[in-house]
Amino acid sequence: MNKILVVGGAGYIGSHMVLALQEAGYSVVVFDNLSRGFADAVASAPLVVGDLRSAEALDACFAAHRFDLVMHFAALAYVGESVGEPELYYQNNVVGALNLLAAMRAHGVARLVFSSTCATYGEPERIPIDETHPQRPINPYGRTKLMIEQALADYAAAYGLHSASLRYFNAAGGDPQGRVGERHDPETHLIPLVLAEAMRLKRGGEPSATGLQVFGADFPTADGSCIRDYIHVTDLCSAHLLAAEGLLSGKLSGAHCLNLANGGGFSVLEVIDACRKVTGQPVQYRVFPRRAGDPAALVGDAGRAAAVLAWQPRYRRLETMIETAWAWLNR
Ligand code: UDP
Repeated sequence: MNKILVVGGAGYIGSHMVLALQEAGYSVVVFDNLSRGFADAVASAPLVVGDLRSAEALDACFAAHRFDLVMHFAALAYVGESVGEPELYYQNNVVGALNLLAAMRAHGVARLVFSSTCATYGEPERIPIDETHPQRPINPYGRTKLMIEQALADYAAAYGLHSASLRYFNAAGGDPQGRVGERHDPETHLIPLVLAEAMRLKRGGEPSATGLQVFGADFPTADGSCIRDYIHVTDLCSAHLLAAEGLLSGKLSGAHCLNLANGGGFSVLEVIDACRKVTGQPVQYRVFPRRAGDPAALVGDAGRAAAVLAWQPRYRRLETMIETAWAWLNR
């Protein structure tokens, strides 16, 4: 049985991945510093609490197990925070990832699936964005991810470290069986914030003092709000599984970069409307100024992932994403 190290397995996407890997028959170990993740999100796999900035902690983990492949989800991922605290981002996301690669090399582990992001593209020059779109990130978060993609291309050429960097668009939804779900502290993402507001109303509470904030209604889109490409977390996991299988079988070699996207977008107001329908709660919002660095529309072209991995998203309806997220909140 192949053994996989899931770095960041206590976080939102990582915790879903642990379950998907186990269902596919892999043995899984989680490495996480719990700075943003939750220990109770890792119910089914051994959890090594450790920090990527510690080469010793990594070495101990790799010495204790014989891993066939690593999945790396453990990065800080708030754009705004990365602007105010770039050192935190460069240390965690760049130094941490390079430490992980060093430990992999030292212990002879040559396959990696890396969580990258559409934030590596920066301001879109064309929609939908495919992998040939220029990568000019506009914030430190996007830059840290791009740096690791670039390192992975060099490590593939020089050291034979094979990798798939998966550039996620907007991850959404929860485990369809309701075992894990989206959880961030602090929460800044649209769908969880709308659903938190719906939950407040459902429980008979008043709308929150600030209310739901829509960041900008004057974008050049049909309803004036931003359009994002939401992709169900289970679909992200299925792409990771396919990438892992390809790397393990040798069908996939070198350093690949693949978008994971739905190929269609939904506006902020459409998301709010769909949340109202799914929850039955009359969630209200107020329009606020635009958030710094928010492009009007981000929609991905996942044609390369379809061709290279034979991957197709299955949970493409926005309502399904919201239903699975809502079911988990109501568990
Ligand atoms: N957004 C919003 N109000 C919020 C949070 C997000 O209007 O309270 C908008 C945000 O400007 C963006 C979209 O919702 O256009 C998705 O934002 P999110 O933070 O979920 O993901 P991002 O696209 O920033 O990765």
